Amino acid sequence: MSDDKKLTSRAENFSDWYNELVLRSELADYSPVRGCMVIRPHGYGIWERMQRALDDMFKATGHVNAYFPLFIPESFLSKEAEHVEGFAPECAVVTHGGGKLLEERLVVRPTSETIIYSMFAKWVQSYRDLPLLYNQWANVVRWEMRTRLFLRTMEFLWQEGHTAHATHDEAEEETRRMLGVYREFMEGHMAMPVVTGQKTDSEKFAGALRTYACEALMQDNKALQAGTSHNLGQNFAKAFDLTFQNEAGQQDFAWNTSWGVSTRMIGGLVMTHGDDAGLRLPPKLTPIQMVIVPIWKSDEERAATIEAAKRIAEELGSFKRPDHERIRCHVDDRIGIKPGAKYYHWELRGIPLRMEIGPRDLAQSSGMLVRRDTREKRPIALDALRTELPVILDQIQADMFAAAKARLEANSIREPISYDKFKEIMDGPGAFVYAGWNGDPAVEARVKEETKATIRCIPDPEFRSPVAPTTCMVTGEPAKYEVLWARSY
Ligand code: AMP
Repeated sequence: MSDDKKLTSRAENFSDWYNELVLRSELADYSPVRGCMVIRPHGYGIWERMQRALDDMFKATGHVNAYFPLFIPESFLSKEAEHVEGFAPECAVVTHGGGKLLEERLVVRPTSETIIYSMFAKWVQSYRDLPLLYNQWANVVRWEMRTRLFLRTMEFLWQEGHTAHATHDEAEEETRRMLGVYREFMEGHMAMPVVTGQKTDSEKFAGALRTYACEALMQDNKALQAGTSHNLGQNFAKAFDLTFQNEAGQQDFAWNTSWGVSTRMIGGLVMTHGDDAGLRLPPKLTPIQMVIVPIWKSDEERAATIEAAKRIAEELGSFKRPDHERIRCHVDDRIGIKPGAKYYHWELRGIPLRMEIGPRDLAQSSGMLVRRDTREKRPIALDALRTELPVILDQIQADMFAAAKARLEANSIREPISYDKFKEIMDGPGAFVYAGWNGDPAVEARVKEETKATIRCIPDPEFRSPVAPTTCMVTGEPAKYEVLWARSY
């Protein structure tokens, strides 16, 4: 697709804007198989940076990586009743191999609890073997009916953490710790503020005791469940005989947790920061932090500006300079494309900084620096790049978070509203609505039916309103919880 056609604007049609932007910024493309997607280098570059940052955070909290197989014996899935009920309809099942009907059908993993805890059962004998703190980076398959690029695909990439502990409290602590790690990553790296909290029973993971989630508000005021962390209790340990001898010498079932984030986060990045000109990528996750566009008229100027641009890019990005932070640069030295078209190209792709260098700049040893997020333009001395760029990139990262946080707050409704008003909001502009709920799943189901909004979570204390709502927004009965309502992806 060419760069010169204008994007559909967010106001015109948010959904078209999103799809067009993902395709035209070359994050991803549709695949020949319905519901699957090809992640192109620009999108995969973001995923790689997400992986690196998260992986460091997992390691720093004591986890190790391992890899478990793609195929799971079908009988494994059936061992945990709620789990099979939740996942069986979404499973792809292999019936034939090598041209023969298989004796036992194999499920393509929709998630790996069953295979992992069956192995843990083999490896754990005593409390001394605990905790096991595992993570795997993998692909999973869920037979989704309504798919959207990144947000919901049949096959997606993710990490799944799986741990085993000696006590409930230790497992709960781990579940909460990893939710905190996700939040830190989403806010610190994605510049995407989230509300954390517990899922209601109807929204929790199939087979879990409790599910916690990070919920982010997209620019169309719909929520995106960006990550989940589950306290699985002893459900899987009982199903897979994952037992250990405790300190008192008795046999006990282990306590498990699992937690995952996926390529859906890239969709979250697009819908949190993108504008009508394209993506806006946070400096920490963008594959390219600064694009340098040499500008010339004559062949002589071309040689000089390209040479200078390459020298700068190499110097800023060099591995051989451990004394300073590497800046990921790219020189757009394409010939036959006007500078304006190049600017548009990189704006669409969300690169945080652009530096233009023409012959006159070069003569003054300076360049013209343009921020993608604010479009602010200013000259910068070339010999100051090394020290100034890290500061500017940090500023962009912080400003993007502040802008997204301000938007989240501006679109959160905390004052008590009637159910009629709520319906109006959900049918119209949408919002994060904090309201009282009597705790009845039937009320939750009715609201979902009538408004398509769901309880995103029972927010953690720090997100709750200063004055807790006393009545249920729908029934007027006493409120058991303050909950967060929104339509979601
Ligand atoms: P779950 O195992 O259902 O808790 O999912 C873990 C994480 O994977 C969730 O937080 C979602 O953000 C993400 N996820 C779930 N289903 C999909 C899907 N079909 N495509 C992309 N991401 C998904």
